[in-house]
Amino acid sequence: MTTLPSPLSPPERLLLGPGPSPVPPTVLSALARPTIGHLDPAYLEIMDGLKAMLRAVMRTESPMTFAVSGTGMAGMECCIVNLVEPGDAVLACVNGVFGERMAEIARRAGAEVRRIERPWGEVFTAEEVAAALKEAPAKVVGLVMAETSTGAAQPIEDIAQAVHEAGALLLVDAVTALGGMDVQVDGWGIDALYAGTQKCLSCPPGLAPVTFGPRAMEAIRRRCHPVQSWYLDVSLLEGYWQGEGGRAYHHTAPVNMTYALYEALRLVLEEGLEARFARHLRHHRALARGLEALGLSFVPEADVRLPMLNAVFVPGGTDEAALRRSLLDEGIEVGGGLGPFAGRILRIGLMGHGARKENVLRLVEALGRHLGGDGTGAVLEYYEGEEDA
Ligand code: PLP
Repeated sequence: MTTLPSPLSPPERLLLGPGPSPVPPTVLSALARPTIGHLDPAYLEIMDGLKAMLRAVMRTESPMTFAVSGTGMAGMECCIVNLVEPGDAVLACVNGVFGERMAEIARRAGAEVRRIERPWGEVFTAEEVAAALKEAPAKVVGLVMAETSTGAAQPIEDIAQAVHEAGALLLVDAVTALGGMDVQVDGWGIDALYAGTQKCLSCPPGLAPVTFGPRAMEAIRRRCHPVQSWYLDVSLLEGYWQGEGGRAYHHTAPVNMTYALYEALRLVLEEGLEARFARHLRHHRALARGLEALGLSFVPEADVRLPMLNAVFVPGGTDEAALRRSLLDEGIEVGGGLGPFAGRILRIGLMGHGARKENVLRLVEALGRHLGGDGTGAVLEYYEGEEDA
């Protein structure tokens, strides 16, 4: 290299896509605190605090609640490779990109994968899952609670009951859900769940919160084959995260990411879970008014729309990629469609710290300018109506 690269200077962006979401300043400051050793007693105390906060946010008492080193996909892989042994039957509920990935990872782990499918944007009923399990029993049922590729919200509680009545374990993807809508691990009977940091927790990407309940841990302890992934083997990770009477080295934990997630979770609990869910819903409703005033229609029906991920069709004849490029040129990131929705939809995230009035107004104003319309009046009317109520 003849000339030195210039110092790092990433641009300022308003992150209103499918993640990462805007990171609050105190989370960024936490990331920049001095790195300490991953077996330093002070760090072990931070890990304990982090675990307690994860349990509170996931609404579980399970001691096997911790953060996998890696992004949401590492959480998905960790759950699947621990729960599934070669030859096990897995029922994958596929209605978007992430259900598809669950099926593929289970297949690679040696499972006999059976899929049930719904069109993208729709969700599964408990009856459908119960009927599929009656036809062919499974050890594990995989379900995505917030399908980021379609904006659809999958109800979990009734399905959890159907899964348990059939003697199976329920694995839930809550990567986009956690921190933005109610996720009741113990209350609903979820056996294993994984999440990500960069969506409604508003932390940079890099860790995957997971939890394994008692039924899942029992299945893991009864395994006949060792977990194919050494790095993601929960029984080995347990020695590091649980470690009664001393923690054993497993891998060098991403210390500064742990600080960041600690602070992000602290902010979630400081706001309060119910207040946070209500905030996501409020700004989603305001945004929906603005988008509809601009003539954009949602992918999912109104009763199954996610508050944090708004998937809307672009008007016919609009160059969707050019629209996103124009928004990015003025500093706003939104997402495009995946798979069959590529080029046809926008995915607008109001996640965590991003779910606020000024962001809704800025985006709707910019979209109106590019599409030729005005949705800000409808947005303001919504907020004003609320104040009058
Ligand atoms: N599951 C869902 C529902 C997601 O939205 C994502 C990421 O967008 C993932 C899993 C994978 O997470 P990551 O990209 O952090 O690995």
